Amino acid sequence: MFKILDKQVFSPVVKQMVIEAPRVARRCQPGQFVILRIHEEGERIPLTIADFDREKGTITIVFQEVGKTTRQLGTLEAGDYIRDFVGPLGTPSHIENFGTVICVGGGVGIAPVFPIARALKEAGNHVISIIGARSKDLLFWEDRMREVSSELFVTTDDGSYVRKGFVTDVLKEVIEDRGRDNISLVLAIGPQPMMRACCDVTRDYGIKTIVSLNALMVDGTGMCGCCRVTVGGQTRFVCVDGPEFDGHQVDFAELARRSATFRAEEQRALERHTC
Ligand code: NAD
Repeated sequence: MFKILDKQVFSPVVKQMVIEAPRVARRCQPGQFVILRIHEEGERIPLTIADFDREKGTITIVFQEVGKTTRQLGTLEAGDYIRDFVGPLGTPSHIENFGTVICVGGGVGIAPVFPIARALKEAGNHVISIIGARSKDLLFWEDRMREVSSELFVTTDDGSYVRKGFVTDVLKEVIEDRGRDNISLVLAIGPQPMMRACCDVTRDYGIKTIVSLNALMVDGTGMCGCCRVTVGGQTRFVCVDGPEFDGHQVDFAELARRSATFRAEEQRALERHTC
């Protein structure tokens, strides 16, 4: 059993929890994820790790309540327990001194960008971070992202805070401003349309772009094949080969189709849960 040590509510549907999981924290590296199960009969859900503290033995997760399980998770409080918390899973981010790196976080995707941006900065990179949310009340971790970034840009879709627009608008501007040759790498994490749009921007400039894919997943160890994606024409498993891939090689249309496979069942489960 894994104790919830702290819970913060960022918005009615976005919550942060700090979980006591010393064995996961000890081996955790940026870019990895956990699979949790709330109770014995529960569904297994993958969540990308938002932060870890090896000394305190804690893992931080930030999640959006989109279905039955994330809604149930959101009802738990500090002091409650989660039945299973398996990890760290997946291949860690590749960290080295690339030069200048742009880290883009969209919505809930800001959380998993944080430990990667921090590691890239510690490795000596000039880290330009771009974070965006639909509106001011949905934006979180601006302060934490500022701490681990050399420069930070903030956008809101509705213009309720700082700059109006999508993260991709700023991404294009920064590349134009600094010059294509001065940007070594782009990392983008967030909703699939946002990651795809970031790749569309950077493809024109020929800048390598890493995305972290949130595919449907069951076991998380490469056995069930549920999370398969096509990357560069080859079948890859997000859980063991990823979650990070070269975004220019990802078949995003297939990923979107596969992600919607169980939408009707997910909706029914949610309705049964809320009725
Ligand atoms: P959202 O829809 O509110 O979008 C967040 C930001 O992304 C927007 O403010 C905008 O700047 C940008 N964006 C969105 N659509 C765009 C588009 N078509 N073109 C350009 N920019 C666009 O995001 P949300 O609701 O907070 O995100 C939730 C999604 O993020 C979920 O689908 C979740 O699964 C995914 N997610 C993925 C990971 C991961 O590891 N890949 C982690 C956390 C969340």
